[in-house]
Amino acid sequence: MPGFELINNLEKKAVNKIFSEGAVFFAHGFNKLRKKFHVREFELVARKKMKSKFSLAVTSGTSATLIALKALGVKPGDEVITQSFNFIATVEAIIECGAKPVIVNIDDTLNMCPKDLKKVITKKTKVIVPVHMLGVSASMKEILKIAKNKKIPVLEDNCESMGAKYKKRYLGCVGDVGVVSYDYGKTITTGEGGMIFTNNKKIFKYCKEYHDHGHELNPKYPRGMDTKSITGFNYRMTELQAAIGKVQIKRLDYIIKENKKRYESIFNEVKNSSLIFRKIPKETDQIFDTLIFKCLNKSKRKKIVKLLNKKGFGTKNLPDAIKWHCAYYWDHALRSKQIKKLKKTKDLLELSIAIPIWLSKTVSSYKSLGKEILKLL
Ligand SMILES: *Cc1c(COP(=O)(O)O)cnc(C)c1O
Repeated sequence: MPGFELINNLEKKAVNKIFSEGAVFFAHGFNKLRKKFHVREFELVARKKMKSKFSLAVTSGTSATLIALKALGVKPGDEVITQSFNFIATVEAIIECGAKPVIVNIDDTLNMCPKDLKKVITKKTKVIVPVHMLGVSASMKEILKIAKNKKIPVLEDNCESMGAKYKKRYLGCVGDVGVVSYDYGKTITTGEGGMIFTNNKKIFKYCKEYHDHGHELNPKYPRGMDTKSITGFNYRMTELQAAIGKVQIKRLDYIIKENKKRYESIFNEVKNSSLIFRKIPKETDQIFDTLIFKCLNKSKRKKIVKLLNKKGFGTKNLPDAIKWHCAYYWDHALRSKQIKKLKKTKDLLELSIAIPIWLSKTVSSYKSLGKEILKLL
């Protein structure tokens, strides 16, 4: 979340500098006019940070997901499995490929339930898309094992948890391919934007060509005479966004460190209460972006939400934007037979409250918030 809170003169200078470098906003060509290639630099910095072999900047997390699904060969008639606590974008990308979204309930990690995943795999399953919601890893150990057994590729939707880890490896680089979002509400931001990470050369090649009308960027020819073998679309990031991205990605470790201080200061106050906290999978590092717990008592739950709003913390998705994040409510996209199976998720999320960690709020304000919540229990 807090990337946008830190935007200052550094981002402003980075954008302005482009004007003195020739004011080329396009990621390709115009070599005589420009001094720099910011999109290519942003990709390089990001893949070094994430320890990924390949990276590709695109227009959004949603387009990154669509491109990655296409690269994995998703076609009409295929089934793609994802989870019920999610953002609608993942399901939209599946539908855009002409494939059928198959939605798995969540467990106490609030991410994909591996036991339920096992039950919905069919011969038509083409890709499994676990989503690392609100800073916390899905149960990757179990999910990767199931996927490997069935020889089904894994696409990690890491739009909400850039910087989080599984077994000390960055999420988004653990499955066959991973995506992040740089939209304005995400951990780091370029306004709108996204990135695809993979160690697979073939997947990368497809993504790179698809996001740029099929351009192969053949070094033997100028762009206008370039070679092509597939049709694609236009999902290119601009130089302006990449210049901001390069500044923002340097802030990632600081963001996680500062998030953690605030998260722990409130968590230490409330951890021994009647609240039931989200389960964090073993061998994972979260980014302390959001503190989520269940409060079983309806009137107490209401009081906590009221307090959060009154104090200016607000809530994050639960309960304020539950209808965009719980697949039970997506009757415009899913069949009613599918939706009925997701009542378990709705019931779980309805009991939950998600407290956002803001860097503009002090560590001590989180501690006092914890004390006030305790009084309401
Ligand atoms: C934000 C988000 C997306 C989409 O990213 P955009 O860059 O906004 O298109 C996809 N999946 C999840 C889980 C998200 O939170």
